[in-house]
Amino acid sequence: MARLSAVFFGFSKQVLQTVATKKMPHQSLTHNTILYGTMKRIQDILKERILVLDGAMGTMLQRYKFTEEDFRGKRFADWEHPLQGNNDLLSLTQPEAIAEVHRKYFAAGADIVETNTFSGTTIAMADYFMEDLVYELNYESARIAKQVADEFTAKEPHKPRFVAGSIGPTNKTASMSPDVNDPGFRGVTFDELRIAYKQQVEALLDGGSDILLVETIFDTLNAKAALFAIEEVKEERNIDVPIMVSGTITDASGRTLSGQTAEAFLISISHIPILSVGFNCALGASQLVPHLEVLAAKTDFGVSAHPNAGLPNAFGEYDETAEQMAAQIKEYLDKSLVNIVGGCCGTTPEHINAIANLVKDYKPRNIALETV
Ligand SMILES: [Zn+2]
Repeated sequence: MARLSAVFFGFSKQVLQTVATKKMPHQSLTHNTILYGTMKRIQDILKERILVLDGAMGTMLQRYKFTEEDFRGKRFADWEHPLQGNNDLLSLTQPEAIAEVHRKYFAAGADIVETNTFSGTTIAMADYFMEDLVYELNYESARIAKQVADEFTAKEPHKPRFVAGSIGPTNKTASMSPDVNDPGFRGVTFDELRIAYKQQVEALLDGGSDILLVETIFDTLNAKAALFAIEEVKEERNIDVPIMVSGTITDASGRTLSGQTAEAFLISISHIPILSVGFNCALGASQLVPHLEVLAAKTDFGVSAHPNAGLPNAFGEYDETAEQMAAQIKEYLDKSLVNIVGGCCGTTPEHINAIANLVKDYKPRNIALETV
């Protein structure tokens, strides 16, 4: 593992020896067996059918019209900084709403829901001066999602439900300067990202996540820090856990914000064993087709897609209906491009239900996960 990581990250021997010689904390056999078992099961299921990921958490939370007071709850009533808009915090202050959104997506046919932890790093939480809450936010978000997943699995054992720990890109980039007058400046270092991601990963796993989903990647270096952190945790705990990696194409030329094409992105993250690679956000379903075609042609991993409900209108809202989106997802299926499909910004349980009904009639794209 360390050798693989060395090839992948081009790290100095010294750093890797530090990682490799770290003492492994005691882990119960049961915990390891469960995680390992989950990986096998998801791999097996992926060969049998196309899995459905949930839709947007943010879009659903907007419907609750939570006020500043709602975001604060009793616990943070006296917090000295504004908290409205800190959706991850709602896992602590409005946990019933979070559970309800997960429940709606599972009921709509999702196999996998994402934890409410898109901004759950010390780097992103610094906006709210809530760095010290990061472990608890991730742990509780995973615990809530897992509890709802278990409810559905108990009712429908033929369709087990899974929880993907959502790991967002943070609001900083390690490979580009935010200052046009100082191109060498970086707002965050690889090591700062790695440490922050490691904390998030540990809490997501402790809370019961079955999968880790590194998503909305606009800067591949940020994603590599997250993947490196995951590998560290896997080694330290002597566990395995399925990893989904999902980038985002941000411009019409088909590149990520850090300038990579779909193929370059794939090559950058292909040196570690992952469950799936794909794209999400930024574009609508149809716009992702050419980029998914590249991935599908060039990887043996699973391919995932969770696009937005079209492109936003002038008010930043998403107008695409469930039927309109499903009609475009059909092209993915007709071309056998994906193994996991769901929705990002603007999607709702109606969109996921339309997608879930559609995928039932299709066989999954061939994958060779046993080679990883
Ligand atoms: Zn999105």
